[in-house]
Amino acid sequence: MASLPSLPLLLLLLWGTGSHGFPAPSKTQDQDVEMVQKYLENYYTLKNDGNQIERKRKNSPVVEKLKQMQEFFGLKITGKPDAETLNVMKQPRCGVPDVAQFVLTEGHPQWEKTHLTYRIENYTPDMSHADVDSAIEKAFQLWSNVTPLKFTKVFEGQADIMISFQSGDHHDNSPFEGPGGNLAHAFQPGPGIGGDVHFDEDERWTNDLRNYNLYRVAAHELGHSLGLSHSTDIGALMYPTYFFNGDVQLSQDDVNGIQAIYGPSPDSTQPIAPVTPQACDSKLTFDAITTIRGEVMFFKDKFYMRINFFYPEVELNFISVFWPRLPNTLEAAYELAYRDEIRFFKGNKYWAAQGQNMLRGYPKDIYTSFGFPKTVKNIDAAVSEEDTGKTYFFVADKYWRYDEYKRTMDKGYPKMIAHDFPGIGNKVDAVFKKDGFFYFFHGTRQYKFDPKTKRVLTLLKANSWFKCRKN
Ligand SMILES: [Zn+2]
Ligand SMILES: [Zn+2]
Repeated sequence: MASLPSLPLLLLLLWGTGSHGFPAPSKTQDQDVEMVQKYLENYYTLKNDGNQIERKRKNSPVVEKLKQMQEFFGLKITGKPDAETLNVMKQPRCGVPDVAQFVLTEGHPQWEKTHLTYRIENYTPDMSHADVDSAIEKAFQLWSNVTPLKFTKVFEGQADIMISFQSGDHHDNSPFEGPGGNLAHAFQPGPGIGGDVHFDEDERWTNDLRNYNLYRVAAHELGHSLGLSHSTDIGALMYPTYFFNGDVQLSQDDVNGIQAIYGPSPDSTQPIAPVTPQACDSKLTFDAITTIRGEVMFFKDKFYMRINFFYPEVELNFISVFWPRLPNTLEAAYELAYRDEIRFFKGNKYWAAQGQNMLRGYPKDIYTSFGFPKTVKNIDAAVSEEDTGKTYFFVADKYWRYDEYKRTMDKGYPKMIAHDFPGIGNKVDAVFKKDGFFYFFHGTRQYKFDPKTKRVLTLLKANSWFKCRKN
């Protein structure tokens, strides 16, 4: 098939994201060696003994720390500073180590009271005072919503949590190093500096999508002030690297963490926290699935899981890393290979992209574009056949067939799914086509279907494409 020619495009697709690399052989540059050393010193308690990084010895502390870091971020554990590892190390992040360091108290420090005070000691010139106040207040609210904790702002004297903007060396053993890299840090609960939050004044702080959103960073840092450490859950606010798409929300992982310390809120109306999907969860289901340039992308809530056939690890990240303007919880997606186009559906609207680039003029509605009647409110699943130019749309227990070349719905549709795709049930969550077979998904089940013989060949778990031990 045409998988090889698509590879350069694939690499281009990946290049722009910066958040995760494609494993490619690369020579480690001198500045990278220095960065690796510093990163491991700052965040993985590597001791600086004045020597250059020792990459030759198998059990050198650097190799061990690299493995620790790779495990934390769910990377391939190589013990080598490969391209993917370097990519993660270059991302802006929180200055608090991923493994505890001497500046942090041993054990699990926590506040012994539920009413805490905070004070904003100084302001950044990047934002209005009102915007800073509001960002900090909202960040506290996220945590007080799910715990018995109450936060009161004070304007003078010593508060439990002192918040300030600092630059360079500010005499707490954790200097900032100019723009980028380390954005902020916070101290675990305790007297004095305990609980305090420092934002790096050399960053530009914003209240919008530009780097760096103060509310987003404050929400994370306050987690440390209350006693949380970094999470390996990429959907959690307590994940160490910065990512912001307009949405600041505690994940279930954050809620579990903070409630393990302080218990739940006495308020009976607990907000629902999103759970990050786990590729190897046997209960995993999907919203939509599509091929894309020889890879397969599985969509779930605000996340995608991606596999390609050269590199079997599952990559999990936010949909908005690739397509910032797509909504969460998509309902259907398909690849129109001859136009190198991906179409995404939600409700009666759809969006189109070529690789990472969203096409202009979207979203469009499915009625004028495809000729659906107004009784169709949303599409459950869609897949296009490259050889015939026919696209199949699955809607409840029926399906429609659309001709991409003529741009019209074929006559005689909708038809019953159960009649023409016997064995797959009468409802489809997601579908994609590979090597002549349809793969239909419903709940935790997956059906490999041969369109020529109209038979289900194999019944699989929905997550069978991921390399999990028990599939
Ligand atoms: Zn942090
Ligand atoms: Zn500091």
